[in-house]
Amino acid sequence: MGRHSEALRRLGRPVTRGREEILRILEESPLPLSSRDLRERFPDPKPDAATVYRNLALLSSLGLVRTVALHERSRRYEAAEGENHRHRVVCRSCGRIEAFPARKCDLSRVEEDIRRRFGFTVTDHSLEFFGDCPECRRKGNKG
Ligand SMILES: [Zn+2]
Ligand SMILES: [Zn+2]
Repeated sequence: MGRHSEALRRLGRPVTRGREEILRILEESPLPLSSRDLRERFPDPKPDAATVYRNLALLSSLGLVRTVALHERSRRYEAAEGENHRHRVVCRSCGRIEAFPARKCDLSRVEEDIRRRFGFTVTDHSLEFFGDCPECRRKGNKG
C-alpha cells in the first residue's frame, strides 16, 4: 500500500484507482496541471472528464491537492504534500508557467513576521513570480 492510499485511508475515504493515479501524477509533475492535462497522463483506460473533476474536488477538500490559480485562463492542481518544493514563474500575458527547484528557500524572516502579526505557524508556502515570457515580450506586450 502506497503512501497515497494511506493518506486517503487516514481520511476515511475509499481508495480508488482514479484517486491514487491523480495523486501520483500530480506528485510526479514539476508543474501544476489542469484537469485536462491530468486526464491525458492517465494510463488507459482513462476515466471520463467528469470523474477526474469530481475526484479533484474531493482531493482538494481533503487537503491532498491544492488548487493553483496562476492565470485567469486556467485553473490548475498540484499535490499538496509534494516532496520536491518548487517556485514558479508565470507569464501574465499567455499563462506560460516554468517551475524551478527552490534551492535556497529561506523565508524564515517572513515566516516569523507572519507568526508575530497573525499568530500563524507557517508549515508550507508557494511562491510565484509574475512577468512576461520572452515570446510575449517579442510580440510587444499587447496583453
Ligand atoms: Zn507569455
Ligand atoms: Zn520556497
